[in-house]
Amino acid sequence: MSASKRVLASRTEGFTESVIREMTRLAALHGAINLAQGFPNFAAPGALKEAAKRAIDADVNQYAITWGSKTLRDALARAYADLYGMAVDPETMLTVTCGATEAMVSTLLAIVDPGDEVVVLEPFYENYGPDADICGAKPVYVPLRPPENAFDRDELAAALGPRTKAIIVNTPNNPTGRVFTRDELAFIAGLCVEHDVVCVTDEIYEHIRYEGEHVPMATLPGMAERTVTISGASKTFSVTGWRVGWIVAAPALTAGIRKVHDFVTVGAPAPLQEAVAAGLALGRPYYASLAEGYRARRDLLVGALREAGFAPRTPEGAYYVLCDITPFGFDDDTAFARWLVETVGVAGVPGSSFYSRPELGRHLIRFTFCKTHDVLTAAAERLRRARELAPARSRLTRPGAARTASSG
Ligand code: GLN
Repeated sequence: MSASKRVLASRTEGFTESVIREMTRLAALHGAINLAQGFPNFAAPGALKEAAKRAIDADVNQYAITWGSKTLRDALARAYADLYGMAVDPETMLTVTCGATEAMVSTLLAIVDPGDEVVVLEPFYENYGPDADICGAKPVYVPLRPPENAFDRDELAAALGPRTKAIIVNTPNNPTGRVFTRDELAFIAGLCVEHDVVCVTDEIYEHIRYEGEHVPMATLPGMAERTVTISGASKTFSVTGWRVGWIVAAPALTAGIRKVHDFVTVGAPAPLQEAVAAGLALGRPYYASLAEGYRARRDLLVGALREAGFAPRTPEGAYYVLCDITPFGFDDDTAFARWLVETVGVAGVPGSSFYSRPELGRHLIRFTFCKTHDVLTAAAERLRRARELAPARSRLTRPGAARTASSG
């Protein structure tokens, strides 16, 4: 390129390497146990794998219908009716995407014009910021306040105005583990109706819950017409690499979303769509056992983290635990995460990567517990040694340490 032309478009300038995926890379480099990136290390249900093999043997190899194979859309419509009483027309209200990641960006590209404001509750899953940037949207961040990680109602109400096009809500929430209550969601719904705003809800962890009910935003009064519900197979069926997600939205919204999806990806993997349709037939008993399995993993990791001197908040849903690292004496989450991966041999995600202003997450680290018990137990053993290995000053503040030990 000539000196007068830049090689890259300006929209790429704000993007950094995903911190979550960077930590996975560092875990491999240092032979650490990876509790950073949220992907399960255990098997997917046999019913899905068998159905995927059958689909490949039957040469389901060509493009599916752009907005999703009929089998999968019909199965999804049945599942939404059965689980939540939602009336979803598979012909006009469903779009199958390459994971929830594509679902979010295709949705925002379809509904947001450059300069529109998009309200995001923070801490947030790290993709939402770049997603807004890709559309030229202006993100407006509203904090979830510790210790409960609830939003302040006045603060949220003040964030919505004439330029607000959409609000992104993620429940169960990554990284906080919050499952928003019906009352909280109804408050958000009321604001959406009042300000004529679209609610984009990322419900990818809908079946991974330990407390509380999952209330799809689309089921609240006035919201069916203005909610874009995003979910997918990745977390529910432990197939994050299959890249099968979906979007439920009213026909007018779906029409625009399908156009973007068509030109961006043409469609999601055809044989795997058939397999996910078979998975959806497993229904409630499967979702119950999924949640029970995760509850045991949660209890194991949260207990180990407490013993190790972290201050975790027990999650109500999803498979992450956000911990306060203050007892370790580090004043920088990234330095702490690097030290932990290199010296202790456990990878987590620095808290700052979930905030618009990194300083808000400097005292936090996120660990995932979507791992088998042997991996979590091995991580627990390593984490138990963290306090001894920590730089001397951190020992001053460890819980239970005698004040007189301060000379050490
Ligand atoms: N959702 C997962 C997480 O938060 C995976 C992130 C990713 O790499 N896309 O860890």
